Amino acid sequence: VSEIETQAAGRDPNHAAFLRAQGAIPGGVSSPVRAYGSVGGDPRFLASARGPYVTDVAGREYVDLVCSWGPALLGHAHPQVVAAVQEAAARGLSFGAPTLGEVDLAEEIRRRVPAAEHVRLVSTGTEATMTAVRLARGVTGRPMIVKFAGCYHGHVDALLAEAGSGVATLAMPGSAGVTEAAAAETLVLPYNDLAAVEAAFAQHGSRIAAVVTEASPANMGVVPPHEGFNEGLRRITSRHGALFVMDEVLTGFRVGPSGWWGLENAENTADVTGSAGYTPDLFTFGKVVGGGMPVAALGGPASIMDHLAPLGPVYQAGTLSGNPVAVAAGLTTLRLADDAVYAHVDRTAPALADAAGEALSAAGVEHVVQRAGSLFSVFFGPLAAVSGVRDYRQAQAQESYRYTAFFHAMLEAGVALPPSVFEAWFVSAAHDDDAVNRILEALPAAARAAAA
Ligand code: PLP
Repeated sequence: VSEIETQAAGRDPNHAAFLRAQGAIPGGVSSPVRAYGSVGGDPRFLASARGPYVTDVAGREYVDLVCSWGPALLGHAHPQVVAAVQEAAARGLSFGAPTLGEVDLAEEIRRRVPAAEHVRLVSTGTEATMTAVRLARGVTGRPMIVKFAGCYHGHVDALLAEAGSGVATLAMPGSAGVTEAAAAETLVLPYNDLAAVEAAFAQHGSRIAAVVTEASPANMGVVPPHEGFNEGLRRITSRHGALFVMDEVLTGFRVGPSGWWGLENAENTADVTGSAGYTPDLFTFGKVVGGGMPVAALGGPASIMDHLAPLGPVYQAGTLSGNPVAVAAGLTTLRLADDAVYAHVDRTAPALADAAGEALSAAGVEHVVQRAGSLFSVFFGPLAAVSGVRDYRQAQAQESYRYTAFFHAMLEAGVALPPSVFEAWFVSAAHDDDAVNRILEALPAAARAAAA
């Protein structure tokens, strides 16, 4: 940022950076929700990050509860991950040829999620779900896709309808530029409503290629599946010969070593829930699987995955797919993500969720905090507080304006929350007592701000 611009912007480097960025980049950002559209103000332009902290271009440090929207499970710039990236970079940035690192990563994914027998590496979660849709259509020879309102699967044309995340913030039903034809074969159903799924299959069953769902939705705020919902999707899709695609881009390797599927299918699940367990046909992974670098993946049984080129007729490719530097970050992150890491985030998240809830209650703010493993978020307003939020309609009915005051009070106190009420709060293994205490100290004043 030039001196003149800084002065012109009232000596606020973030404001100056935002003004300058808007001159060169649409909205000044490379991904919409970063622009603070729903909370207002200048986005913090970040200069560096370490452990649980991020530092902006003004030199101000914040405890980070965004964690790069999920990937930073170990905290930012973990020394071993950085070293692995540096070593890989020194060996070459990109080959456009197969590497053993890709095989290691695919095998590590399969070790954690055995149903991901064959794995294809891509660069973004969007690519993973886009490929899952194409593969499901290619395998079944059917056109239609079922998705749930409020679930975000990346900016895939067919999956943008009533998506959460940035689309929820912008209050757009889908996106301009998506043709009617691209959206026409997508059925959008209310989340947590198996009767709606049954009805859709009763009407269109022979034309439905797949049901695509977030394993546990976290892009309309955190809205966990009701007990038996995912299992019900498995039952219904099996009966109708459709594929069950579980999107674990956000939850995968974050809520547990084997993702949300692992939590719902732990060895003792049958004892606890009476569930016999379930296995989706396809999994998509992203975020943590790349450890902060562009890696995502698609996995499933060989009988389905081998329909992909070069073995099968479903085309999919990528110049930078399986990039060796990115794979080194992902593989090292997964290898470091041991039981102690998951135990830490599993302790820290409920403690913060409870503290946020207590602060809001003390300030008289009606709300509900919903949590799915180590993911949680707050919904504001009497409706949410009475019965909890089970779907997108209810999530949208909350008093989201209260989050604006809450968010900015936290930011002022040095805590960076996600800049939208529809996003999950992310903690990492690096969120130690110091970082947690800073959050706890900031909560009461933020809760009072939300009450106003
Ligand atoms: N699926 C889910 C559940 C996500 O949360 C996201 C991103 O937030 C995506 C897919 C898209 O991933 P990416 O942003 O890497 O394209």
